[in-house]
Amino acid sequence: MAAQPLDDRIPSRTAIIATLGPATIRQGVLQQVIEAGCRIFRLNFSHGELDDHRQNIKDVRSLEKQLGIPLAIMCDLPGPKIRVVEVAGDGIQVEAGEEVIFNREEKGPCEVPDEIGVSPVLGCTWQGLVDCVKPGDRVLINDGAVRLLATESTDGRLHCRVTSGGLITSHKGVNLPDSTLDIEVPTPRDCELVSWAMQNDVDLVAMSFVRSPVEIESIRTIMKQGLAQSGHERPLPIIAKIEVPPAVAAAEEIIAAADGVMVARGDLGVEMDLAQVPVIQKRLLSIARSLDRPCIVATQMLQSMVESPVPTRAEASDVANAIFDGADAVMLSGETAIGDYPVLAVETMQRIAHESEEWMDSSCGVCNDLDGSVSGHAVDDTHALVAGIHSTVKAVHAKCIVVFSEWGTWSRLISRGIDSVPIVAYTPRQSVVRQMLLCRGVIPERMEIVPDDAILSRDAQHRLADVGWLKDGDAIIVVLGRPLEEECHSARITVHRFGDGIHQA
Ligand code: PEP
Repeated sequence: MAAQPLDDRIPSRTAIIATLGPATIRQGVLQQVIEAGCRIFRLNFSHGELDDHRQNIKDVRSLEKQLGIPLAIMCDLPGPKIRVVEVAGDGIQVEAGEEVIFNREEKGPCEVPDEIGVSPVLGCTWQGLVDCVKPGDRVLINDGAVRLLATESTDGRLHCRVTSGGLITSHKGVNLPDSTLDIEVPTPRDCELVSWAMQNDVDLVAMSFVRSPVEIESIRTIMKQGLAQSGHERPLPIIAKIEVPPAVAAAEEIIAAADGVMVARGDLGVEMDLAQVPVIQKRLLSIARSLDRPCIVATQMLQSMVESPVPTRAEASDVANAIFDGADAVMLSGETAIGDYPVLAVETMQRIAHESEEWMDSSCGVCNDLDGSVSGHAVDDTHALVAGIHSTVKAVHAKCIVVFSEWGTWSRLISRGIDSVPIVAYTPRQSVVRQMLLCRGVIPERMEIVPDDAILSRDAQHRLADVGWLKDGDAIIVVLGRPLEEECHSARITVHRFGDGIHQA
C-alpha cells in the first residue's frame, strides 16, 4: 500500500484539472502544480504537436512515480473545431461596418491589405464554410470577440460584414451558431488521436462538439477495436463535452451514453446566448448526478489569472458555486496552459474548493441537497443497495466509507449521493485508481490482493487514524463490491468501529 498521507492524496474533494501547455513545461512548474493540489491533467489536442503531448505524459508519469501520488491524464480530442489559418504579422484589426472575405482556397498566411478600402481575405481550416454559411448567418471569431454577419456567397468566397470589431490573429476559433454544418463527429483526426491515446498511457478521453449518443459510441467502437494493441482491458472512459445547441437538446441521451460530462462553457457561450450558460450548467450538473456520471465544469473559471496573480471576486464565486452545485471537477484552461501564474491559479482554486467544502460540511441545508439527491432512481438492485449504504452512513454517523471494487463502479455510485464523508476506494488496477480521481470525494488507492472486509477495515483505519480522522468508537462502513466480474450485482456491507487493538495492529 502506498504510504502517502491521505491529506496529501486528496487536497480537496472536488478535483482540479489543469490544462498543460507552454506555461507548465517550464522547469519545476508541473511539480508545483501537483503540490498545489492538481491531480488530473488535460492535454488539449487543439494545440501543440504530438511530441509535446508525449513529453507531457512522460513528465506527469515520472512525477507520479517520484511523488507516489496517482495522477490522471485526460486527452481532449479537438473535434471539428474550425480555425482561421495563419495570419501574417500581429494579425488583422477589423472595425464594425468593414467587410471581411473568407476564401475557400486561401491557405495563409493572410496578409493585412495595404490599401484603404480593400477587404482582408481570410482562409479557414474547413473548406465547407463558404458553402454552409448562408447570408444572415453569424460568423464568430475568437470566442465571439470579433463578430461578423454573412452577406453574400459567390465563387468560393463568403463576404461578411463586421458587426463587432477586434483583432483577428492566427488559428483563432470560428463558431457558426446559425449554420447547419455538414461535418462528421468524430473527425478522422479524432479517430487517429483516440487510438494514439489508447497506446500512450492516457486515462480519460474528452470528446468535443458531440451532438448525439451515436458519436460517443463511434469513439467507443474504435477503442474496442484497439484494445488488443493498447494493452487495455476496457475502453477508456469518455467525457462528452457539451458545447453546441444539439448537444444541449440531447443532453440526457448523450450523458447516458458517455462515462462523464464536461460543461464546456467556452464554445457554449458562443454557440448559444451567454445568458443561458448558467442555467445549462445547473441542468447538466443535475442530469449528470441523476445518471451517476461525473461532471466537470470548465473554462474561464479563473480567467483573469492568465495575467493577474489574483482572480476577480466573481471568478472565486463561480468556482465555489460549481462546487455547491455538485461538480466533481473544476477545470483550468488558459490559466495553466499559457498563463503567467499557473501554480498560483491551482493554489487559488484549491483554497476556494477547501473553503467551499468546509462551508458545505457545516451547513446542513446545502449538504442535504447533495446527499439527498442520491440517484433519484433507486429502483434497480444496485441503486437500492447504494441507497442502503447512504442511509447506514447517516444512521451510524460513519466517518468514512471504504470500498473495494475492480472497476471503480461502486465507489462512483456511492460518491453520487454522499458529499460529507470521504470514500477510500481500493482497486487492483492502476488505470482505475487514476480514473477514480474524477469522482468527487473519492480517495483512490491501489490494492493488489482481493481483500476481505477485515483487511480493508484494518488498513483504512490505520490510514484514517494517521491523519487524525478517527477517534475511538467512530464508525466506518466497508463495502466489498462483489461479484467483481459482474460488477454491481451484490455487495457485502459491514460497519466497523474504531477501537482498541485495531489501530495498533
Ligand atoms: C470549451 O469550449 O469550454 C472547452 C473546454 O473546449 P476547448 O477548450 O477545446 O475549446
